[in-house]
Amino acid sequence: MPKPSIIAIDGPVAAGKTTIGRLLARRLGYRFIDTGVMYRALTWKALQLAIHLEDEEELSRLAASTNIEIALPLSDEGCYSVIVDGNDIGSQIQNLEVDSAVSLVAKVAGVRRVLVAEQRRLAEPGETVMAGRDIGTTVLPRAELKIYLGASMQERARRRYLEVKERGEAANYEAILTDLIRRDEIDSHRSVSPLKPAPDARFVDTDGLDPAQVLARILGMMEER
Ligand code: C5P
Repeated sequence: MPKPSIIAIDGPVAAGKTTIGRLLARRLGYRFIDTGVMYRALTWKALQLAIHLEDEEELSRLAASTNIEIALPLSDEGCYSVIVDGNDIGSQIQNLEVDSAVSLVAKVAGVRRVLVAEQRRLAEPGETVMAGRDIGTTVLPRAELKIYLGASMQERARRRYLEVKERGEAANYEAILTDLIRRDEIDSHRSVSPLKPAPDARFVDTDGLDPAQVLARILGMMEER
C-alpha cells in the first residue's frame, strides 16, 4: 500500500495531537499543520481588540478581514511562527487567557468558514499531517488515514498542567481540569462541525503510552492498510 498522502489527527484538548502529529510528520517527511493555532491567533486578535466574545457577527467580520499565516517551527519543540496581519505573534497564543476564550471564537460559523477554507488550501499539496477537531469530519473528509486520539480527562489535565508549568505560567491542576472540561464541552456540542471521530477514524487511546509508543501504533496501522 502506498503511504497515505493526507493524514488527519483529531481529538480533545491535550490528547497529544501536536506532539504525535509532529513526530509522525517528521518520520514521513511530511508537513505538519496544527489548525488550533489558527483559532488561537484569531482569538488573540479578538482579545487585543476587546471584541465581545458573544458577538458572532463581529467575530465573523474579524475572521474575514484578518490575514493569518503559519510557518512550521524551526525545531521540534519550537513554537509556530504565526503571522497575523504581518506580525509574528506565535509566542503569545499559548496561554491561559487564550485557552479560556478560544472555544467561544471557534464555535462561530463565520469564523470556521474562513479558517476551514484556508486549511483546505494549505493541505492541497499533499504529504501533510493536519491536526485539529474536525479535520477528518469536515476539513479533509477524504484524508486517507484518520486518527482520533483519546486519553482520560485526568491524564490530559496532567499533561496540560506540566506544559503550563514548563512555560513558566502559574499552574493550578484543578483550574486546568475545569477549563479542559469546559472547552471539550463547547467543542463537542457546538452546532458547526463539533468535535467527534469521523466514522472511518482509527481510535488510539494514549493513556499509559509515551509518544514513541503512540507513533509506533500509528505506523503499525499504516502497514496494515
Ligand atoms: O488544539 P488546540 O487546543 O490548540 O485548539 C484550540 C481550540 O481551537 C480548541 O479548543 C477548539 O475550540 C478550536 N479548534 C477547533 N477546530 C480545530 C482546531 C481547534 O475548533 N480544527
